[in-house]
Amino acid sequence: MPGSFRIGSIAGIDIYVHISWLIILVFLTISLANGWFPTLSPGYPTSTYLLLGFVAAILLFVSVLLHELAHSLVARSRGLPVKNIVLFIFGGVSNIEQEPHSPGTEFFMAFVGPLVSLIIGAVCFGLLTLVRGTHSPTEDLLTYLASANILLGIFNLLPGFPLDGGRVLRSIVWKITGNAYRATQVATIVGQVIAYLFIFAGIWLFFFSRDPFDGIWLGFIGWFLLSSAQSARAQATLETTFKGVTVAQVMNAQPMTVPANISLQKLVDEHFLPQGLRSALVLQGDQLAGLITLSDIRHVAREEWPQTPVGFAMIPVDRIHTVTSQQKLTDALPLMTGKDVNQLPVVDNGKLVGVVTRDAIIRSLQVRQGLGLEEQKQRV
Ligand SMILES: [Zn+2]
Repeated sequence: MPGSFRIGSIAGIDIYVHISWLIILVFLTISLANGWFPTLSPGYPTSTYLLLGFVAAILLFVSVLLHELAHSLVARSRGLPVKNIVLFIFGGVSNIEQEPHSPGTEFFMAFVGPLVSLIIGAVCFGLLTLVRGTHSPTEDLLTYLASANILLGIFNLLPGFPLDGGRVLRSIVWKITGNAYRATQVATIVGQVIAYLFIFAGIWLFFFSRDPFDGIWLGFIGWFLLSSAQSARAQATLETTFKGVTVAQVMNAQPMTVPANISLQKLVDEHFLPQGLRSALVLQGDQLAGLITLSDIRHVAREEWPQTPVGFAMIPVDRIHTVTSQQKLTDALPLMTGKDVNQLPVVDNGKLVGVVTRDAIIRSLQVRQGLGLEEQKQRV
């Protein structure tokens, strides 16, 4: 996620915090200090409420982090590579680079997150019995953490994708029908229904509750769930449509290339301007050396264009994703999503054999759907 910074790593998994998390940290601190804690135990000075609110907010995010770590560690133990964990405005997300290969793995991986939240909640309730009636800040904190984690666990178990419960539902449908695509459709449709319920509840609260902020917040969560469910559904369609298709079947075998030793001036005058290019692959002999884009050229001052070789300004090959011609297209797709990558060079044994672009994939998708090729029943 752009706008995230790394705060450390746990068990070899990098932990990132997105700037939106800082906003929610401030918001949660203030709202706890103004509402929850004064209602729970009145009579403290404002500074104590603020401190309590801040500590509670931090501990809540530690709880969220433990929930995500549970997902990530199970994923890794099942052989799925974990890229990182990002904490952001709506909680946390584990970036796991592959989808689970079996319903059992998916079930276990999804269920363990809410389970950890429920366990943290139960432990806090247990600790609470030791300090109950002391009317101390510790009691207030434990009360908050216990209820927040139980709520978190229950919320995440709602059976709509992208919530953990949606993944649990997907794994069950997958197990019963043996069809991963059908399972995703069921889980994402239920996910969209739940998202709309959140949005409607948010609108209702906005107009009819004392605190319109609750409604706005609920509406935002609904909107986030809706867009996640929709994109997961689109992704599943993409993967089904392209099942069994290799990179070679979609790539352009005559990609636009330029030699590494010409100047940026020559590149602009003879290639980019006349042909309306936005990027070109850079060759050294027949070996792929890198990729040059408009923004790489812009980073060099214009008066230096005549003296600067393309090879100097380009993104070198070790910093761009490449695929091989026999790779499955569905494995190449994740390399193009999320980041600003519009094309992937196709390289066999160091030699450039083609390029696969976003446009070509979309065209191929439309043709395949037009022919009804995505309807094929598939057993996974
Ligand atoms: Zn989760």
